[in-house]
Amino acid sequence: MSSVIDLHSHSTISDGLLTPFELVQRATAQGVRVLALTDHDDVAGLDEARAAATGAGIALVDGVEISASWNKRSVHIVGLRINPAYEPLRDGLAAIRAGRSERAMRIAAELEKIGILGSLEGAYAYAANPGIISRTHFARFLVAKGIVKDTRTVFKKYLVKGKPGYVEHRWADFANAIGWIRASGGIAVLAHPGRYDLGRTNLDSLIADFKEVGGEAIEVVTGNHTAEQFIQFANYAREFNLLASCGSDFHGVGESYRDLGRLPALPSGCKPVWHNWPEMSPELAEHVGRKSEAPSAARV
Ligand code: AMP
Ligand code: MN
Ligand code: MN
Ligand code: MN
Repeated sequence: MSSVIDLHSHSTISDGLLTPFELVQRATAQGVRVLALTDHDDVAGLDEARAAATGAGIALVDGVEISASWNKRSVHIVGLRINPAYEPLRDGLAAIRAGRSERAMRIAAELEKIGILGSLEGAYAYAANPGIISRTHFARFLVAKGIVKDTRTVFKKYLVKGKPGYVEHRWADFANAIGWIRASGGIAVLAHPGRYDLGRTNLDSLIADFKEVGGEAIEVVTGNHTAEQFIQFANYAREFNLLASCGSDFHGVGESYRDLGRLPALPSGCKPVWHNWPEMSPELAEHVGRKSEAPSAARV
């Protein structure tokens, strides 16, 4: 299964394991021809990624994944074809990063209460960009310490609601995050809607609110969704008249459900978010999903 387009990925600028250069190299080797780098709350990797993409002969889509709060829940908004120089976007992202640093101290204090010492310094040791400190970096520290066997298990036993090391946090305002993306010239995409653990009613209201404040697309095919969810969110896209996106959400080998460019085609009836992009030549568009098989279980 291979896909020439992958619109969600992370580098060492946020919580990925590859530098922007290495990420582009890997994507190219995997057959990706249009790649979006969508680091959490930072656009600092885009220049390096763009230069690497030019060298490799593939297209780089300027992206970001903004952490936002919707009704006290954390949700992620991917911005595609943004202008990374747009000041209100940059200012908004800087404020989120400052909030991350403050949250990290609270996470470390919580872990200290159960006898895990030194996690703040420990987490920062895994953060190539100290501006973005995330739970992923704490997870890597906990694994390296031998406290948990792998990062996936960390997100079951620690750092999540009801477990040690979890803290509430206020991210960017939902409507503002979408507004910055749009005002910069980008498209706002609701990331992995199947991952928020919402019931039908809340999911409907999240998607309705998203659309109401200017959201234009949702991720249908993502490394975070099961095959059933590909279909479920293709139906949402149609029902709410939203464009459909696809991306691996690749963070690194061993840390992601899907590798770069290893995604099935969008289910039929979806209007792709790239339908009018110059990056997607008609020749490339025709190849989207051509080698795909029927979707199989995503969480392997
Ligand atoms: P943060 O933005 O600091 O709250 O960290 C969230 C990040 O943790 C996500 O972007 C993922 O990279 C990672 N993450 C969250 N849940 C899981 C999970 N169940 N398994 C692996 N990684 C996860
Ligand atoms: Mn992440
Ligand atoms: Mn996300
Ligand atoms: Mn992501």
